[in-house]
Amino acid sequence: MAQLIDGVKIAEEVRQQVCLDVKKLKERGVVPGLAAILVGDDPASAVYVRNKARACEAASIFSQVYHLSFHTNESELLDQIHVLNQDARIHGILVQLPLPEHINEDRILDAISPHKDVDGLTPVNQGMLQQGRASLVPCTPLGVCELLKRSGIIVEGKHVVVVGRSRLVGMPLATLLAQKSAMGNATVTICHSKSKNLAEITRQADILIAAIGKPQYIDAVMIKNNAIVIDVGVNRVDDSSAPRGYRLVGDVDFDGVKDVAQMITPVPGGVGPMTIAMLLHNTVLAAQNLLRQ
Ligand code: NAP
Repeated sequence: MAQLIDGVKIAEEVRQQVCLDVKKLKERGVVPGLAAILVGDDPASAVYVRNKARACEAASIFSQVYHLSFHTNESELLDQIHVLNQDARIHGILVQLPLPEHINEDRILDAISPHKDVDGLTPVNQGMLQQGRASLVPCTPLGVCELLKRSGIIVEGKHVVVVGRSRLVGMPLATLLAQKSAMGNATVTICHSKSKNLAEITRQADILIAAIGKPQYIDAVMIKNNAIVIDVGVNRVDDSSAPRGYRLVGDVDFDGVKDVAQMITPVPGGVGPMTIAMLLHNTVLAAQNLLRQ
């Protein structure tokens, strides 16, 4: 049975560090602040935003949630972002994705000040990441790197296979792990929906990272013996025995893979808590960066 990588415990360690950093900032008269914008009533997005606001409160970070109607148009949302870009109380701006289809996501993300882009999704921050000069890095990839580091997993020289190439997760994670840096130096293969013979590739992975969005897609046959498996996926599947009528599963078939892998992240309780912890980290970092300017 694989050893569990405990994202809840490691995220708590990160949050403790964040609390210390917040205290130091307050001694210098700065209270870090995060603004979260939610457009529409998607229940999963509402839960994510609520959890992020609660995490801010627990870390003594000022937070404000802007819950806008589904019918908000692009220029109204842009106006809101321009106001927040100028708001001195706010160091981080987070737009909860996905946005309703009538709003162009790129135009919205482009409008966020790169200094306040705590999700690391603006072209400036994604470009800086590509050049190995990133400050604000997308929270989930950063959380995965932190999880690996704090679990004592050395990625240098390992073959990491990342399944998924999204702007939010797969691509930045592959970049971080391939980079010439303390958290990188791996040999990285990126797979996606057009990859042929996926199982043949994933079976070569010393470290397999699944960020696909397909429930339990990666099964034991796709995993090399003693591989390390990081499951980024969060999928709701119907379960009439669960209180809410559904339960959360990852992109990895946990029950099958745990017998083959050396270490594995559970869902929930793996990467998810790290994403929130790194959002707090990035908000504090954005406030620290402002002081350094
Ligand atoms: P996404 O934007 O939908 O991207 C999914 C990626 O998976 C795409 O690159 C897609 O390939 C690839 N893919 C889809 N089907 C595939 C298949 N059969 N074989 C190989 N690759 C396949 O999703 P995302 O935003 O990256 O999120 C991925 C998962 O992580 C989701 O379950 C999401 O809920 C979860 N997530 C979790 C956290 C967290 O905090 N734990 C944070 C963010 C996301 P193409 O590019 O070819 O379409």
